[in-house]
Amino acid sequence: MADKDTRIPRETRWPSVLFYLYLHFSALIGLYFVVFEAKWTTIFYTICLVYVSVLGLSAGAHRLWAHLSFRASTVLRGFLAFAQILICQGSLYNWVLEHRLHHAYFGTEKDPFNPHRGFFYAYFTNKLVTSHPDHEKLLKTIDGKDLEQDPIVMWQKRLYWLLAPLLVMVTVFLPSELWDESLVCSIFIVGFLRVTVSLHYSWILNAATIIWGLEPLNKYSIQTNLVFVINKSLWPQYHYTLPWDYQCGEYGNYNHGCITAHIRVWAALRLVTNLRTIDTDGMRKAMIEAASTGQEFNQCAEKYAFDPNLLKIKCELDLERIPS
Ligand SMILES: [Zn+2]
Repeated sequence: MADKDTRIPRETRWPSVLFYLYLHFSALIGLYFVVFEAKWTTIFYTICLVYVSVLGLSAGAHRLWAHLSFRASTVLRGFLAFAQILICQGSLYNWVLEHRLHHAYFGTEKDPFNPHRGFFYAYFTNKLVTSHPDHEKLLKTIDGKDLEQDPIVMWQKRLYWLLAPLLVMVTVFLPSELWDESLVCSIFIVGFLRVTVSLHYSWILNAATIIWGLEPLNKYSIQTNLVFVINKSLWPQYHYTLPWDYQCGEYGNYNHGCITAHIRVWAALRLVTNLRTIDTDGMRKAMIEAASTGQEFNQCAEKYAFDPNLLKIKCELDLERIPS
C-alpha cells in the first residue's frame, strides 16, 4: 500500500520529448498527405501494415509470448515475430519482460505503466520520464526462461536493430516501386504516420483498465457519459487476475473481438494448440480451493483451465460413436 502511494520523483527525458514531438509532427504531415495527395492503394496498404503489426503485438507478443495463452506452430511464431517488429516497440524479448514486470507490480511505483499515476502516465508520459530507479534490477528478476528457449524470440532479439530499420525502409519504398506513389508521400504515410498509429495502439494497452475498466464495485459507471461511447466492464481487471485466458481481449472485451477470432481460425487450421481458458464452473471450483487451502487463486484456476478446441473435438468424436 505504501508502495502504491509513495510517489518516486521522475525526471523529464528531453531527448525522448523531442523525438516524440518530431514523430507526431511528421505523422500530422502524413495525415495531410492521406487527405490531399495519397493514392488509395497506399492508404489501403498502410491499413494492412497496421493490422499486421496489431496481430504481432496482441496475438503474438501479448497473448502467445507474455501470457502463454496458447502454443503456436513454428510458421505462425515466425510470422508473429516478424509482425511484432512492425510495431517498433523494441524486440519481442524486451517487450514481454516489460509486460510481465507490469503484471507483477501492477498499480505500484515499480509498474512501468502505473495506472494510479493517471491516464496520461499509463498511456504515454511514462516514455518521457525516467523509470523507477530499480527498473533494470527488477527486470532481471522476471522469469524469461521460456523466451530464452524459443529460438525465434532469441533470433529476433539478436537481429532486431538490423531487421527493424530494414523492414521500415522496405515497407516505405514498396509503394513507389510497385504503384508509383511519390516517395515523400510514402515516407510520411507508411513511415511516420503508420509507426505513430502502431505505437499508440500498443501504448493504449497499458491504460486499458482506466479506459475500459469499471471502478471496483461500480457496476454501471453512471458517473461518466463515457458509457455511451466506451463499453466499460471488469474484463480488463480480469486480465490481471487470469492473464493466460486466450479469450480476454486487450481492450475490454471477452470471448469476441478480432484477435480472439484469429486465434480460433488458427486453432481450426491446427496452427495453434493448447488454448487456455476457464468456465464459470472452473472458476467456482478454483475459488473454493483457494479459500480452503490458502493457495493463490491463479494457481488453483490454472488447474481448471481447458482447451475449448479439444473439448469440441471430443464432442464430435462422442457424437460419431453414438449409433444412429
Ligand atoms: Zn497482459
